Amino acid sequence: MIPLARPYIGEEEVEAVSEVLRSGRLSLGPKLQEFEEAFADYVGTRHAVGVSSGTAGLHLCMRALGVGEGDEVVTTPFSFIASANCIVYEGARPVFVDIDEETLNLDPDRVEEAVGERTRALLPVHIFGEPCDMPALMDIARRWEVPVVEDAAEAVGATIGDRKVGTFGIASVFAFYPNKQMTTGEGGMICTDDDRVAELCRSLRNQGRDDKGDWLRHERVGFNYRLDEMSAAVGVEQLKRIDFLLEDRERVAGFYDERLADVEGLVLPARTSHYRSWFVYVVRLPSDVDRARVIRELDDRDIQTKGYLPAIHLQPAYRSFGYEPGMFPVCERVASSTLALPFYTGMTAEEVDTVCEALRGVLED
Ligand SMILES: *Cc1c(COP(=O)(O)O)cnc(C)c1O
Repeated sequence: MIPLARPYIGEEEVEAVSEVLRSGRLSLGPKLQEFEEAFADYVGTRHAVGVSSGTAGLHLCMRALGVGEGDEVVTTPFSFIASANCIVYEGARPVFVDIDEETLNLDPDRVEEAVGERTRALLPVHIFGEPCDMPALMDIARRWEVPVVEDAAEAVGATIGDRKVGTFGIASVFAFYPNKQMTTGEGGMICTDDDRVAELCRSLRNQGRDDKGDWLRHERVGFNYRLDEMSAAVGVEQLKRIDFLLEDRERVAGFYDERLADVEGLVLPARTSHYRSWFVYVVRLPSDVDRARVIRELDDRDIQTKGYLPAIHLQPAYRSFGYEPGMFPVCERVASSTLALPFYTGMTAEEVDTVCEALRGVLED
């Protein structure tokens, strides 16, 4: 079976986790601090706050910015559902805006039309590791005086010019689930230059405690969104490899680009002037192709693929918000035609060949 994704774990990670286990210090210890400092340094923000998942990080950002009942947050319907759920957790309304058909990211012109008096924040997602048009989005945010939270869960290391994504908004969130470019098992990171946001997030992830160290004093109602020491230790080791991880994934994407360039009707991932951090390799099938059949027939050949991602506004969980098919035509067209191919660090040229030959065969049927 050629899997859709696979983590890249070395002996260093195994050794680092063993060391933590032997130390007896399994939470709120030196590994978390080491991981946070190294990650802040890598992204280029003053603070990094480790959390138990990317979703938890997004939730804390909404809470820290005071997003609540009656507020609207402008975001994309073409994302993993967590980027919209974090808005709903706080009783606010996700206001979806259609995407750009090439980059699959929020279209700034449509964001401009959607922003209004109730807008409390913008939440762009760097989808599949391709940077959003942050200069344009930041310009809108400045004019409306609303904060921007970047969902950079799929985009660790991506850059616009020489600036990394995650440094544009007031805060940004990275995620380390096993299919991401780097993993901690479960885990996430909030990055910010804002002292107050950092302090609030540190408190909120830790049951609302302040930094004075009184374990049974709670300044605010918080959560248990802490990142444990074993996960942080894996994160430290993965971050040491980040240049290799990203370069190797770029290599695999290059193999796919080469081998699929001449397949008629197939749309390959956009190549822009930004540096994409390769999270997944997603193609768009010709509109007359039955995607379910393609997935099934590839699966019969032991190749795992997935329609990626479904439109959030059409999910059953979002029925009560009043969104309907046809409201975001670009997103819906994209969501119904995308196919994520097997893609992971260390994937060999032979494996890419196998996938591409099988895909050609299935498309010719
Ligand atoms: C993975 C992901 C998240 C959530 O991360 P978890 O660590 O799985 O909670 C959020 N947003 C996007 C766009 C993601 O891809």
